[in-house]
Amino acid sequence: MRTKAPTSEGEDIAIRLENVKARIRTAITHSSLATAHPTLVAVSKTIGQHPIETLLRWGHTSFGENRVQEALSKWPVLKDKYPEAKLHLIGQLQTNKVKEAAKLFDVIETVDRPKLAEELARFRDRNGFCPALLVQVNTGCEPQKGGTDPAEADKFIQFCVSKLALPVKGLMCIPPVDAEPSLHFGLVRAIALRHELASLSMGMSKDFEVALAFGATSVRVGSAIFGPREELSKDDT
Ligand SMILES: *Cc1c(COP(=O)(O)O)cnc(C)c1O
Repeated sequence: MRTKAPTSEGEDIAIRLENVKARIRTAITHSSLATAHPTLVAVSKTIGQHPIETLLRWGHTSFGENRVQEALSKWPVLKDKYPEAKLHLIGQLQTNKVKEAAKLFDVIETVDRPKLAEELARFRDRNGFCPALLVQVNTGCEPQKGGTDPAEADKFIQFCVSKLALPVKGLMCIPPVDAEPSLHFGLVRAIALRHELASLSMGMSKDFEVALAFGATSVRVGSAIFGPREELSKDDT
């Protein structure tokens, strides 16, 4: 829904958003596994409040942040003003930040270890609610990345769902930078099917069309919308 025309300074961002949406529409018409209405999560890490607000005014609702602290500095105000906004945590979550994260984020995409799952269950028990959760799978087994080892994924998902009764809706992955992503998307899709999990968060600016062809129900796109970021560290997640 478009409520207002974008201001001239925000025009580029709104145009890039519409371009990405058009590419999503094309990608899903060309693939039999694709979902009809995938969610476009605009990744706004390192991006200031103003460009984010341009998209909110344009009617975009789903956003992703990778750091709890940064999200806390930007989003409480924006969420007050735009209550329809849905915020996804896509970076690693430390157990001591669970409380703040669970209150601010609508979806936590990076559940990846028993200690974190237990802390989320404790939060749920104390507060009577819990954000929607995705289990992150470290498909490339990269030591610097979050995510459960693929060999441990079945056991860990079982633990979250059966033992803790957490609201696990699906899986998320970030393939290694230089890898052929389709192998990773296919692996995550297969694990999700085994557990009857409906949500698949996979695909970023450079590979979201491939991810959609593998049934991604949500893609996380940053630079293709906001322009190139100044990377503070090589691996923010
Ligand atoms: C930064 C980030 C993205 C978006 O990356 P782009 O290449 O800018 O689209 C997606 N997912 C995660 C987990 C990220 O940290």
